Amino acid sequence: MSKLAVVPGSFDPITNGHLDIITRAAKVFDQVNVVIMNNSAKNSLFTVEERMTLIEKATANLPNVQVASSNGLMINYAESVGAVAVVRGLRAVTDFEYEMQITSMNRVLDEDIETFFIMTKNQYSFLSSSIVKEVAKYGGNISELVPKEVESALKKKFQQ
Ligand code: ADP
Repeated sequence: MSKLAVVPGSFDPITNGHLDIITRAAKVFDQVNVVIMNNSAKNSLFTVEERMTLIEKATANLPNVQVASSNGLMINYAESVGAVAVVRGLRAVTDFEYEMQITSMNRVLDEDIETFFIMTKNQYSFLSSSIVKEVAKYGGNISELVPKEVESALKKKFQQ
């Protein structure tokens, strides 16, 4: 049976840290479904469509990765696509408490879907979408931190 994992997040926008997690997940699972969760209170810079396009371009070399979006509960989405697992990235200890809370809640909602954590490469352990946006806003060099198409999309956003 083909094993599908969901990689949920805001991806506003996708960074090389996210991409590292997605690439690693795609080596372990048969199918990886990257889903943009559109129900958080966060103010986003990119629309869901823009974020989807950026992820599609960045993962074009990974044939078992699909991109989607959802407005509801992540665990309901995972059930609806028949996922066996949820994959999240871990950077530093600061991620741990938040992730533990979400994972425990998801387990109450559906104990059959397992959550897996993948540690990012050391070089991306400080990296977040927010810090990338902050640096890009003031014209800093982000070429090592995000895929090419994200770099140009950010430049365009902040020129407007
Ligand atoms: P969320 O709002 O759900 O935290 P994000 O888009 O910020 O969404 O992150 C999605 C997932 O990617 C989370 O599991 C987060 O921990 C992980 N992540 C974010 N940045 C990195 C990074 N630099 N390295 C590894 N994982 C990361």
